[in-house]
Amino acid sequence: MKYPKLPDIIPLDNILPDEPLLMMGAGPVPIPHKVAYANSLVINHLGDTMNKVVEQVKTMARYVFQTSSSHVMGVSGPASAAMEMAISNLVEPGTRVLAVCNGLFSGRLAEMAVRVGGDVVRLDVPEKEPASPDRVEALLKTGGFQVVTIVQGETSSTVWNRDLVEICRIAKSYGCLNVVDAVCTLSTMPMEMEEWDVDVVITGGQKGLSSIPGVSLIAFSDDAWDRILKRNTPMAHWCLDARLADQFWNKHGYHYTAPVSGVLALHEALRLVCDETLPVRFRRHATCSAALQSGIEAMGLELLIPAHCRLNSVVGITLPDGVSADQVRHVMSELHKVEIAGAFGLNILRIGQMGEQSRTHNLFRTLHALGSAMRVAGGRIDLPAGMAELERMLTSHLTLAQ
Ligand SMILES: *Cc1c(COP(=O)(O)O)cnc(C)c1O
Repeated sequence: MKYPKLPDIIPLDNILPDEPLLMMGAGPVPIPHKVAYANSLVINHLGDTMNKVVEQVKTMARYVFQTSSSHVMGVSGPASAAMEMAISNLVEPGTRVLAVCNGLFSGRLAEMAVRVGGDVVRLDVPEKEPASPDRVEALLKTGGFQVVTIVQGETSSTVWNRDLVEICRIAKSYGCLNVVDAVCTLSTMPMEMEEWDVDVVITGGQKGLSSIPGVSLIAFSDDAWDRILKRNTPMAHWCLDARLADQFWNKHGYHYTAPVSGVLALHEALRLVCDETLPVRFRRHATCSAALQSGIEAMGLELLIPAHCRLNSVVGITLPDGVSADQVRHVMSELHKVEIAGAFGLNILRIGQMGEQSRTHNLFRTLHALGSAMRVAGGRIDLPAGMAELERMLTSHLTLAQ
């Protein structure tokens, strides 16, 4: 047997930066020590210990989703896998889907529905605007829709669909199931699944929850579950079959080997959310994001989205003419060890305010790095004014933002 010659493999220590970057982009976000520790453990995926963990994950997830539904489960995979689980279980060939699209991720839900044979109509929302309930209703009136998909916060365009509650209510009144992508927003702002009559809520680990990427959560309403039980065609995907997943998440049976370390990490992340409580967590996020936005503006930069539909969990920044987003990001990570996000080709920057990102010490470091890198990249920036504004905003809410 002749093996091909291996090139020299560099140890991980030599690939990773000496000092870890502060992750202030659009996810993944920094994880608390307890989450990191839980993620370092491996236990049996079936048995008493795992069963207790699974029961608590569901209980805590119900609190975070604000639902009493018994169809709450984890998904082994990225948030996109949870999106695909929602779509592939609820959309069959010919199912009429209205996909409200504000950008990349809500567009992905539409694409997924097309791929499983759905009869999909896209409602493309104009840039820098939230989805309009009237436009959704006008389309639903044309008849026959069974599923409406929508995002609460569109990470790619940094738009918040402020009329989500109303749109979900309208969708239900037309007999549709509504599927809500709350990947970047869950636990950063209210999402009241039961109260708002939402049928499916999807989230990932690596955003608001401050857990690891690759283990996600999904919750189905009773209406959604009924629809799944009444499918005409069998599910094509084994791993994403919600009825098989229910075997593991509700009956402690075997579906596939659960990502035990990631589920333990998620357990700890959820526990920290429950300890903090949702109202306090929402206030922390609102305060930190508002202070960051104010600081950015005081430095002389413009925010991408008008205040009335601006997403708090990912803040988009317009660059001054002639300043390159790539150069700013490069200087921030090389010199300041702070990483923020670009935007899939557009010359804008995005700063995350999800979970551990929304901490005062991280805000000071990030805003300083941003202003300083902007100067290097040729932007005319009043850095001290920005820092002073951040300080002013945070001290006026200090007890809330810590
Ligand atoms: C990040 C994100 C996703 C996709 O998450 P992955 O874990 O990368 O699959 C989907 N929707 C929204 C709103 C997101 O922010």
